[in-house]
Amino acid sequence: MIIKQSDFAVSAVKASQYPQDGLDEIALAGRSNVGKSSLINTILQRKNLARTSSSPGKTQTLNFYRVNDNFYLVDVPGYGYAKVSKKQREEFGEMIQDYLETRAYLKGLILLIDGRHEPTADDIAMYDYAQYLNLPILVVATKMDKIKKNAFNKTEATFRKHLDMNKDNVTFIPFSSETKLNVEKVKDWIQDRLDE
Ligand code: GDP
Repeated sequence: MIIKQSDFAVSAVKASQYPQDGLDEIALAGRSNVGKSSLINTILQRKNLARTSSSPGKTQTLNFYRVNDNFYLVDVPGYGYAKVSKKQREEFGEMIQDYLETRAYLKGLILLIDGRHEPTADDIAMYDYAQYLNLPILVVATKMDKIKKNAFNKTEATFRKHLDMNKDNVTFIPFSSETKLNVEKVKDWIQDRLDE
């Protein structure tokens, strides 16, 4: 996939605010600070389209980025952020559920998990939820530049220990925004979902 154009389209907290032009969508989810904004910027070859920050949990809306006037990348707010109230967390969960469970244009979910650590309980819950929704899932292990090449297999094995990835709808890709490792593979996965 060649990225010719990308722009921020809209933020939404409810369905009436979602884009109305009928383009396909690919959602991205992951814990706060996992590297989601960085991945979006890397994929789209933009320095600062999605905000990256070291203060996690800032993005509390669904952010729609229009790409090539052909599809949207949908940035789902990072989960597992401690410094929000129970009420905020519930509203948050509802917003994400509403979107993921009702959006007919949604063609797949990219789930980002920190490649340096074991998947957390939140990561596993999100993965199981995506399976329950029956979505095509791309599991991206992030920040792999921090992992020595000869330990890559260990990361994958650790992920497989916690997530049952031996399924037709699941793909696993180790990734780094820092070194651009496997950027093309992630783009190819997106293209395949759009072509389906
Ligand atoms: P988000 O909260 O998931 O959107 O995460 P960000 O993209 O804002 O990244 C969180 C932090 O991780 C920032 O300090 C980034 O510079 C860092 N980071 C993101 N991707 C990578 C990566 O591939 N390698 C390394 N070493 N750091 C990364």
